[in-house]
Amino acid sequence: MTVKTILTEPNKILRKVSLPVEKVGKEEQHLMNDMLETMYDAKGIGLAAIQIGIPKRIIVMDLSKEGEKKEPRYFVNPIIKNKNSNLSKYLEGCLSVPDQFAEVNRPSNCEVEYLDYHGNKKILKADGLLATCIQHEMDHLEGILFIDYLSKLKKSMIIKKLSKQKSKEDRVVL
Ligand code: ZN
Repeated sequence: MTVKTILTEPNKILRKVSLPVEKVGKEEQHLMNDMLETMYDAKGIGLAAIQIGIPKRIIVMDLSKEGEKKEPRYFVNPIIKNKNSNLSKYLEGCLSVPDQFAEVNRPSNCEVEYLDYHGNKKILKADGLLATCIQHEMDHLEGILFIDYLSKLKKSMIIKKLSKQKSKEDRVVL
């Protein structure tokens, strides 16, 4: 397993729409292993393949708490079948939007159809943090980030901050 570099906003690749996976084979499983390793390394609870630059409809997640047994989840070609009209609000962050957090409203429950690590078709009924996390990650597959739900002003402030951080990172002092 390899820890990959996570792309951060602003980056055009993060805005790409990811493509469906034809078959879950060795290559896809290898990718899921790398994604999980990358997510654990960055201390995140969810990661979409596009965040490491691969436009495939694959998501990994693990909502277990620190010190608890790990509970990796894999979602290939996820589709939301049902959404609740009730909304719940979470303070969201994202590995591709480092150190920025904002409250986002999303449907509190959803039902997701997907293929698991072995390519088996599964249906999951999710609520609470799990529902929010799945919807956040599925947005990545459409090129959507949580900051897109904020006001224009707030969003542009965050992007400005991130761009500044980036230009610092790129600077080389010799
Ligand atoms: Zn994210």
